[in-house]
Amino acid sequence: MNAEANTESESHRRSATRTVLRGARWPGDIAIQNGLITATGTIAPLPTDEIIRVDGDIITAGLCNTHHHLYQWMTRGYAVGCNLFGWLVELYPVWGRLTVEDVHAAALVGLGELATSGCTSAADHHYLVPHGDDAVFDAIADAARTVGIRLHLSRGSMDLGESQGGLPPDHVVEDLDSIMASTERIIATYHDANMVHVVIAPCSPFSVSSELMQESAALARKHGLRLHTHLCETIDEQEHCLERFGRRPVEQLAEWGWVGDDVWLAHGIWINDPEITQLGASGVGVAHCPSSNARLAAGTCRVTELEAAGVPVGLGVDGVASNEVGGLFPELRQSLYAARLRAAAADAFMPADALRLGTIGGARCLGIHQQIGRLEVGMVADLAVWPGDNIADVLDPLAGLVLGPDRKVRHLFVAGKPVVQEGQLLGYDLTTAHADLAQKARRLWA
Ligand SMILES: [Zn+2]
Repeated sequence: MNAEANTESESHRRSATRTVLRGARWPGDIAIQNGLITATGTIAPLPTDEIIRVDGDIITAGLCNTHHHLYQWMTRGYAVGCNLFGWLVELYPVWGRLTVEDVHAAALVGLGELATSGCTSAADHHYLVPHGDDAVFDAIADAARTVGIRLHLSRGSMDLGESQGGLPPDHVVEDLDSIMASTERIIATYHDANMVHVVIAPCSPFSVSSELMQESAALARKHGLRLHTHLCETIDEQEHCLERFGRRPVEQLAEWGWVGDDVWLAHGIWINDPEITQLGASGVGVAHCPSSNARLAAGTCRVTELEAAGVPVGLGVDGVASNEVGGLFPELRQSLYAARLRAAAADAFMPADALRLGTIGGARCLGIHQQIGRLEVGMVADLAVWPGDNIADVLDPLAGLVLGPDRKVRHLFVAGKPVVQEGQLLGYDLTTAHADLAQKARRLWA
């Protein structure tokens, strides 16, 4: 038997072996076999089990990041005192100078930071294609493969430059035909409906034409793919829609044929009561990005009302140019704070609610909730193991987890496969990736 065949049979033997995470404080033991959760609770040992001790730790389903712009790792700390439009106007020209190598470096850091903060599925909304070079999407897909987490590769796009009434300068937008041809290529190359889901994702009402929105919807439905865009993020965006279309953003969304259960929206802040009912009835999801919304003073998402109406709500980091942290874990606590402040009620949103958003709520937005997002037998074993040592004194482990200090995972599994082990990414060295990124990012200061 040659070496390659040997390795293959070894990996087959390993995957068929049952792995048991034993000793967790919450929710108890978990057994994994062939990439699935096969038992939970107190699990009777088998002589062939591979045992991983997780004594006192807390295990959750892997977190799902429903909205991100990985490339923004190149531009942290810009326009710190600006609202969304001021921030974008300052950053568009900087982003216009990014290279494919920059985007790759940013994706490695961004996805690595997500993995170490408990994220097993990440949606990257990439809408900057400098000089029309769509190799940026190859770079992002490559980084996700290196890191080992799931990617919703969202082919973002902008085709409405300043001269046509859009916000972005003309040199950072593409033309409709190029966008459509590139999107077809990316679907054919990367969509496997497992580790990579391609998503069609025109950027935002103030950077796209109606043709782009309509053709994107048609293309997504032809291929059975999901649709994503920014909507109802700021009052400025609402005013843009009222002035340009004579309609509020959600009304315009319906006009474009985008109201359906294959759509999720980033932010969803400025939505009125009838619109909440409409989105809930049609199953449109919302990616809630509380830190970014606070940083840009965009407003506060009506999470409790959206969920009550049946809207799937997940959490998003948003890009780190408006978040600065880049981990999904802090968004759990931030979502709880934002909901309570908005309601002025201490019981409006509990730690379990935050965890629901971060796991199954996000999976619903991403359309993977049949497989991912719950610690139940038969679900795919995407798991985060959180070290419990410094919250061993906290009575309620979930309260300790969500309200306690920012945390990195001890272990992370994607379909039962370790991606982070004892706090270390297995795919590459994150410290080296940060150093490489910093060198590239400083170039942009010139
Ligand atoms: Zn965004």
